[in-house]
Amino acid sequence: MKRIQDIPAFWRRRSLKFWLATGMLMSLAPIYLSAVTGYLLYRGTIIQPLLEVASAQRNILHPLQSVQLSLWDVSESVVDFVTDGEPRLRTAYQEEASQINASLENLATAMDGQGFNVANLDEARNQWQELSSLSGTILAGEGLHGNATVSAQVHEFESLIDRLAHQLETIRDAVSIRSDRAHEQVLSRLALLEYLALGGLVVSIIGAVMGVVLINRSLVNSMNQLVDGSMRFSSGDREHQIEVQIPCELVNVANAFNQMTQRIREQENSLRSMAITDGLTGLYNRREFDRLLADEVKRSERSGGSFSLIIGDIDHFKTFNDRYGHQTGDEVLCAVGQALADNLREVDKACRFGGEEFVVILPDCNAEAARQAAERARDAIASKVFQLDGKLTARVTMSFGVATSPGNGNTPEALLKRADMALYQAKGHGRNRVMTAV
Ligand code: GH3
Ligand code: MG
Ligand code: MG
Repeated sequence: MKRIQDIPAFWRRRSLKFWLATGMLMSLAPIYLSAVTGYLLYRGTIIQPLLEVASAQRNILHPLQSVQLSLWDVSESVVDFVTDGEPRLRTAYQEEASQINASLENLATAMDGQGFNVANLDEARNQWQELSSLSGTILAGEGLHGNATVSAQVHEFESLIDRLAHQLETIRDAVSIRSDRAHEQVLSRLALLEYLALGGLVVSIIGAVMGVVLINRSLVNSMNQLVDGSMRFSSGDREHQIEVQIPCELVNVANAFNQMTQRIREQENSLRSMAITDGLTGLYNRREFDRLLADEVKRSERSGGSFSLIIGDIDHFKTFNDRYGHQTGDEVLCAVGQALADNLREVDKACRFGGEEFVVILPDCNAEAARQAAERARDAIASKVFQLDGKLTARVTMSFGVATSPGNGNTPEALLKRADMALYQAKGHGRNRVMTAV
């Protein structure tokens, strides 16, 4: 499994909660952000202009239209009065005029409120003032048809009506142009919003993927490391160390696991070593010797080479024990084991065969070399002086038998038998000597 490398200490201290929260935030934040930004953009660039258009429609264009219609009514009332001289037309005029006054007043407030240039409206209001004063003059008279003054007044009245109507049309155009522009703007912004929505979607997907990657890196990878480490351990791999860097909770689990496996490894090593070692001498024990000898037989069979076996037995050890005590005998057994090991090569395997008997397996070693090794060991043991209580000293000697494979046999039993026979001969020839199987 790939190791997560070089994660700075700052990140390694972050907790599981932190990684989960950051991952979720990364996944969800772009979605929320896109939604909020989209809403704000939508409100600012689409809803607001549309509301302004609607407001202009309601507060400016409608009153303007009503002024235009009332103006024709006013014109009709005045012209009809001049023609018919009907007094009720004065009242009708008054009502229409006051309606126009009110509408013009409202228009001024609405246009000012929406930032329109009110100069045109002021002009219209002046024209209306002029018109209403002339209307007042006309309506105050008898309205007789054919009167030259009245005809001139009516003529002026009509031209004033035309001017005012034209002025109102100008205002209407200005307001309509602005509304049309707002509509166009809204349409172009709608198109832009579509792109932004697409962009927001892409960013949200990237954010979601990044969030998932983050959670994956911080959690799933580390969990996999833990699972992998446990599986390896259960299948016998005692050397594998679990490496987790984040989050810190799983790092603690990994550390605890590694400590536990190390302790188990040490205990297993010590048990393994105890299972193959002789407790008194520290050499291999009998069971391990049997295994080592069987292995060596197979190995030499495969390679076609030779190996030797030395068997050694301490001379008159029963008597030694009887004279100096069993404990001193044990110390001598240890010293003999040490002397054997000291006079052998690294590859040679010295074992305690049982009691005061020792065996040595010498890989890739012919009979003569084995005999020389046994001779060196024999000499070392024989020349060793054991210091006993007070001024007492003691010595022991040892007899050896040497057999070599394949010359003396190619099975563990055959070799042991030939080596034992050689040892027996050594004993028979006076002990403290090495005899080689023939
Ligand atoms: P030989 O020269 O013929 O081998 O004579 P031996 O006395 O050594 O032979 P024998 O087999 O009669 O005696 C072996 C003695 O080794 C018997 C026992 O007292 C002693 N011995 C065996 N195991 C131990 C041990 O673990 N500790 C001690 N101190 N002595 C042991
Ligand atoms: Mg013996
Ligand atoms: Mg003996």
